[in-house]
Amino acid sequence: MSGRLAGKSILITAAGQGIGRATAEACIREGARVWATDRAPELLQDLAGAETAALDVTDRAAIDRAAAEYQPDILIYCAGVVHAGTVLGATTAEFDAAIGLNARGAFEMIQAVLPHMQARKSGAIIAIGSVASNLMGVPNRCVYGASKAALAGLIKSVARDFIEDGIRANCICPGTVDSPSLHGRLAATGDYDRAKIDFIARQPMGRIGKAEEIAALAVYLASDESAYMTGQECIIDGGMSL
Ligand code: NAD
Repeated sequence: MSGRLAGKSILITAAGQGIGRATAEACIREGARVWATDRAPELLQDLAGAETAALDVTDRAAIDRAAAEYQPDILIYCAGVVHAGTVLGATTAEFDAAIGLNARGAFEMIQAVLPHMQARKSGAIIAIGSVASNLMGVPNRCVYGASKAALAGLIKSVARDFIEDGIRANCICPGTVDSPSLHGRLAATGDYDRAKIDFIARQPMGRIGKAEEIAALAVYLASDESAYMTGQECIIDGGMSL
């Protein structure tokens, strides 16, 4: 198999749809051996060229089993949930759920896969963060932004602590990207068309991003082309944070 990721094995979480799915497809095209996982494995049925499995990243025992079985060269953590609201519009349970999926799941996945990378003295960890984080305040994204800031801090810390082991860790920080859950968020406002116009208006490029555009950055960060890059929050947002 040829391609920029030939010879590499990659475990991807939340690969059923959206950015995770596009990333799995791009990694397969680039010659990687891909283990595509999702809480909803039925979404993976038509993903050709990957091994697929159910994996809920809030289930620590399942994470440990998956890491031990696959021992990937590369982890791509895509799982995430968007909560809408200000600090006054969120409950503690919603805060805990967002931290659990957006940050703690990455913490536990990294704990599980990192010893295998250390043993090989090489590895790459990529997490899908967001510009709604420490990078910028986005209206009604308080809990989401807090959890993605925690994720970015986790990735930076891992990058520093394991640099001598040949392990790199980077965070991708998209702006608004077309995905099934984005359509759900637009519909949840009660006026899909108005919300879509408003979301596009936040993007100086005048359009929402494509999942494939985020996937291309993930391929770069997984490949040896980015061998000198670690600990970064890679913004890919159509100018949203400018
Ligand atoms: P999405 O939200 O449409 O799909 C999410 C996927 O995650 C689904 O396949 C779902 O089954 C899976 N999932 C949910 N809970 C899970 C769990 N506990 N364990 C395993 N899988 C689980 O996809 P998306 O919008 O492309 O979002 C993917 C990532 O990108 C998220 O981390 C999100 O925060 C981030 N992101 C998205 C946007 C955007 O505008 N779409 C922007 C910035 C960042």
